[in-house]
Order: sequence, then structure tokens, then C-alpha cells
Amino acid sequence: MTDCLFCRIAAGEIPAEVILENESVMAFHDLNPAAPQHALVIPRRHIATLDDAAEDDRALLGELMLAGAEVARLLGCAEKGYRAVMNCNQDGGQSVYHIHLHVLGGRSLSWPPG
Ligand code: 5GP
Ligand code: ZN
Repeated sequence: MTDCLFCRIAAGEIPAEVILENESVMAFHDLNPAAPQHALVIPRRHIATLDDAAEDDRALLGELMLAGAEVARLLGCAEKGYRAVMNCNQDGGQSVYHIHLHVLGGRSLSWPPG
């Protein structure tokens, strides 16, 4: 989708600080970090929200989670701990409608979120 911000990042049309990438997923630093470490992991393929994910996306969603764990290791926060979370739709606080896993670490994170 040419009008989707994260599709454009995945296509290399908009720059991002890439942490890892392969043929199906990509991880990069969040532009407005909410923690000392804050990365986003996206599928290259456009899926607007978690609610739009379908049975065919099962393996891709698994890859997204495993890539999130790898990102936390690369950022050095795996051992102390981190949060991997996906916001869905308006009440979930989603602002970019191309699914992305937030990986947040580097400080103690409170629960429940606001
Ligand atoms: P959401 O609110 O949809 O769960 O998360 C969207 C995230 O994307 C936010 O944390 C926001 O800071 C980040 N973001 C928005 N625009 C850009 C951008 O152009 N580049 C990067 N790297 N992150 C962005
Ligand atoms: Zn997209």
C-alpha cells in the first residue's frame, strides 16, 4: 500500500534505523521512544490491525513474536526484561494501521498500562 507509512518504510522509501530484517519481517527503532529501548517489528506485508489477521497469517505472526525476542536480545534488554505489545484499533491506542509489535525495555515498566 503506497499510502501506508510502514509499507513505505518496509520498501525503503522512508528511512528508519533498522535493527533486523529478513524477507518477511523488519524491525526498527521507534521515532518517538517511550522507553530507553523502543523498537517496532512489522511484517513486510500489509495487515492493517491484529483484528484483520487471518488463519493464513499464523506463521507470519509467529515470526513477528520471535523477531521481537531477537530484537530484545540485540538491544541488550532480554535478560532484565521487556514488554512486547501490539495495540489494536482506537481503544487499543493504535495510530499506524499496519500491524507492529512494540518492544520496550531499558526501564521498569508499570502494569496495567494507561
Ligand atoms: P501505535 O500507536 O500505532 O501502536 O504505534 C505507532 C508507533 O509508530 C508510535 O510509537 C510512533 O512513535 C511510531 N512512529 C510513527 N511514525 C513513525 C516513523 O515515521 N518512523 C518510526 N520509526 N516510527 C514512527
Ligand atoms: Zn502497510
